[in-house]
Amino acid sequence: MSQRMHFLTAIPLWQKIMAGLLLGIIAGWLLGDHAQWLSPIGTLFINAIKMLIVPLVFTSLISGIVSMGDPAKMGRIGGKAVALYLITTAFAIALGMLAASILQPGIGVEMQMNNSVSPGAAPTLTEILVGLVPTNPISAMVDGNILQIIVFAIALGISLVLIGERGQPAIRVIDSVAEALYKLTSLIMACAPVGVFALIAVVAGQYGLAVLIPLLKVIGVVYLACILHVLVVYSGMLALLARLNPKRYLGGSLDAIVVAFSSASSAGTLPVSIRCAREKLGISQGVSGFVLPVGATINMDGTALYMGVVALFVAQLTGTDLTTTDYVMIVLTGTLASIGTAGVPGAGLIMLSIVFAQTNLPLEALGLIAGIDRILDMARTAVNVSGDLMVTTLVGKSEREIDLDIYNDKAAGQTF
Ligand code: ASP
Repeated sequence: MSQRMHFLTAIPLWQKIMAGLLLGIIAGWLLGDHAQWLSPIGTLFINAIKMLIVPLVFTSLISGIVSMGDPAKMGRIGGKAVALYLITTAFAIALGMLAASILQPGIGVEMQMNNSVSPGAAPTLTEILVGLVPTNPISAMVDGNILQIIVFAIALGISLVLIGERGQPAIRVIDSVAEALYKLTSLIMACAPVGVFALIAVVAGQYGLAVLIPLLKVIGVVYLACILHVLVVYSGMLALLARLNPKRYLGGSLDAIVVAFSSASSAGTLPVSIRCAREKLGISQGVSGFVLPVGATINMDGTALYMGVVALFVAQLTGTDLTTTDYVMIVLTGTLASIGTAGVPGAGLIMLSIVFAQTNLPLEALGLIAGIDRILDMARTAVNVSGDLMVTTLVGKSEREIDLDIYNDKAAGQTF
């Protein structure tokens, strides 16, 4: 018995999580609809991670700001992060469109359209800016409004630094709560193999091949473009701009990528991403506690890429000729719509309707995609989270807020 226990604890967590993922797919296919029985286990796991989001973002951000102690540096980090988030998102949507133009997933597909998706509405820029400052930070926390929590935490963190000695008692409490929350994240992640198994089994049980086959090509194009974006664009940026070994980034991000894939929620994955950034990629608390929550809210490269593929897929399917203006509109509205997409399952599909409305693509086609959207959502969420971690690593390196010993350390639980 004790030997068996020892054998289980000796397996690295990422291997157990990957095993959970594969076994979950197999179990889902075997169980079919019965896999629904596993749903409470998956929900329990996701709830446990979500429980950490608000307190973790709040305390780790304040702790990080205090440890950096320089408001100007925060401004620079924020500027770099937002610029990189925008650039990678525009790249992602262009890559999605390129892949769909070359592979033409919509040609030769015969399908009935029925709309079951109601169009979303993008907030205006003024609404976004005004909404950044909470009138009541407690209700921002209750609502889980990450951007408002970030703004309040930054303001409070800077004020704590400004009051010097008198800020120390509060800083010590916040530091210690942040550490405890990191520990709690690790404890919850120990259950990830079972949680991921249950989450994925439910999805695999829901989608029989009959639903997937007609749309297999578009699914293939989204997955291929997602993989290329992570392996080529992200790895290339890390290698060229930061001279970092991309394999380490991929290995260090794996836990977060798998949780994102199985939960389809990048906001829900945030505590896991923060843990990966700190413990496996060696990024400082200040940078990871700031750049990752911003990314989980505004950076959705996978969603943008998916919008590019699906827009072209529907144009091909319906024989709609897209003009150059349409292509430009897809990149612009897709980038903006992805920024407005919430990091929760299915949000990207609703925001896609904005792109369709702007380019005169038929909204009825969205009903078609809705049937398989969860499968696409898993891939795009995994890319969303990978993108957040890549930008965090780049910013961390450029600000010398990275511990290269941890980044390059295989023993820190890296995969490669
Ligand atoms: N599910 C995605 C996420 O959480 C958003 C989307 O639907 O595209 O990142």
